[in-house]
Amino acid sequence: MPDFQAILDQIHKTLTTMPDKGTVASYIPELADVNANHFGMHLRLHDGTEYGVGDYNQLFSIQSVSKVLALSKAMSLVGESIWERMDVEPSGNPFNHLSLLEIENGIPRNPLINSGAIVIADILLSHLKNPKDDFLDFIRDLAGDDTIQFNKSVAHSEKITGFKNYAIANLLKSFGNLKNPVEDVLDFYFHQCSIEMTCSQLTKVFFFLANKGNCLMNKARLTKTQAKRINAIMLTCGFYDEAGEFAFEVGLPGKSGVGGGIIALLPDHFAITTWSPGLNKKGNSQLGMLALEQFTTQTKLSIF
Ligand code: GLN
Repeated sequence: MPDFQAILDQIHKTLTTMPDKGTVASYIPELADVNANHFGMHLRLHDGTEYGVGDYNQLFSIQSVSKVLALSKAMSLVGESIWERMDVEPSGNPFNHLSLLEIENGIPRNPLINSGAIVIADILLSHLKNPKDDFLDFIRDLAGDDTIQFNKSVAHSEKITGFKNYAIANLLKSFGNLKNPVEDVLDFYFHQCSIEMTCSQLTKVFFFLANKGNCLMNKARLTKTQAKRINAIMLTCGFYDEAGEFAFEVGLPGKSGVGGGIIALLPDHFAITTWSPGLNKKGNSQLGMLALEQFTTQTKLSIF
């Protein structure tokens, strides 16, 4: 068994001295003020053993990491019918890309780019009684932690500057791929993206995808097949036009967010979260990508 704490400590030491820590996302004004020097990692093994380094207990905006959780909830509610409204192919394009959606008649390439996630938000709106509260409860239950919250200022900040997402939602609506009003769908979407968690909360939440769909309390939240499918989508689409690079360098299913968080997991072994707010040119955490490459190389633990 590798010395996990020593490996995390060493990665932290190496990466926090790197001169290029990437650039904090500023297109959501509320995120622009986050200090780029934060760095945290948290690892949770299948047996419950936990290891952490740096700022792993500090809250950050999970942003697009939430898309996996929204997809999971939608899958548990409506199953395979999701795939009548979107595909499961990598887009090879940035997360908020627009023109492909028009060429492909309002059918998003996958649920982890913005267009797909906005359709998933529409599905949740149609099937949940109190969509925002019910979604938050779903996440709290996965972690056994009812302190998890939306950050309403971040949601508001994105609402007043989210022109691209309005364009995407309007295009989806024009093709008949949104059933609810654009305003309502985006209000839900901006709130789901604004959820804050620490690295250690995120590894707990994502345990169910490393555990065949069964959450920390050993209750089934997805079937084994559904968990397999979501892991496959994370592997092929979780990092937008850098998904190939992540599979090549890291070799794990994972998902990033513009808040600088990355969650990755090895089914039946562990879940790991990194947080470093500076992003690379593709919108993925610069140091998080490097940290996970070093982690899977040093531990020799990956799906390949
Ligand atoms: N809320 C962000 C957006 O829609 C999420 C993007 C991301 O994390 N990649 O632009």
